[in-house]
Amino acid sequence: MKDIIVAIDGYSSCGKSTLARALAAKYHYAYVDSGAMYRAVTLFFLNENIDFSDDEQVLKALEQISIGFKFNPEADCNETYLNGMNVEYAIRDMRVSAQVSEVSKIKAVREALVQFQQEMGEHRGIVMDGRDIGTVVFPDAELKLFMTAEMSVRVQRRYLELMVKGDSITMEQVAENLRHRDHIDTTRQESPLRQAPDALVLDSTNFTEEEQLDLASRWVEERMQMKQNQVL
Ligand code: C5P
Repeated sequence: MKDIIVAIDGYSSCGKSTLARALAAKYHYAYVDSGAMYRAVTLFFLNENIDFSDDEQVLKALEQISIGFKFNPEADCNETYLNGMNVEYAIRDMRVSAQVSEVSKIKAVREALVQFQQEMGEHRGIVMDGRDIGTVVFPDAELKLFMTAEMSVRVQRRYLELMVKGDSITMEQVAENLRHRDHIDTTRQESPLRQAPDALVLDSTNFTEEEQLDLASRWVEERMQMKQNQVL
């Protein structure tokens, strides 16, 4: 079967990463969590006290950042590296979550990351999730999914994730952070979160992870077949 690009966009905590990871494993595709890249840049800016509103400081900082992913067989997932350091844990904390959408608004940040993401998809055979993957990064992706879920379900999922990590945070703080990020992500000038006109909507509210994978797999195989037929 022909390799395709699967672009998964949607709001925070709708199950994008879980589905993307499962699809990548099933079809032996690369999985890229583009949100992790925006988080890694944010972590660097916070650690180095970069003033986000100062273009010169931002550009200089971007030149000093190198982001990579490495598979960790014990955790059975890719982990994010910032300048050679494993930051998978650090990029998920609330300090980063509180600022990441502000950093993601910056044009220079988006340009640098989008270019890197496009290079990673050059040979197709990739599943990438984020906010602008089907609209900006890979407008020619063979399959575009737009994931949604009811707010209460999103809050519950995110809260449980943070609890497992040992974070002490209230449900209301989680809800507030999701609402805040939704607002910035959908209203920003640069590549706002939008459903691509040719995206298929997957509302994960009432679906188990297995059901989501089954449904998405049908779509993936359909698109692979279409691509195969085009070549023949
Ligand atoms: O996916 P995740 O929730 O980890 O993403 C963190 C933040 O990174 C989002 O709230 C959004 O502000 C930003 N982001 C983005 N474009 C992407 C992926 C993430 O602006 N493609």
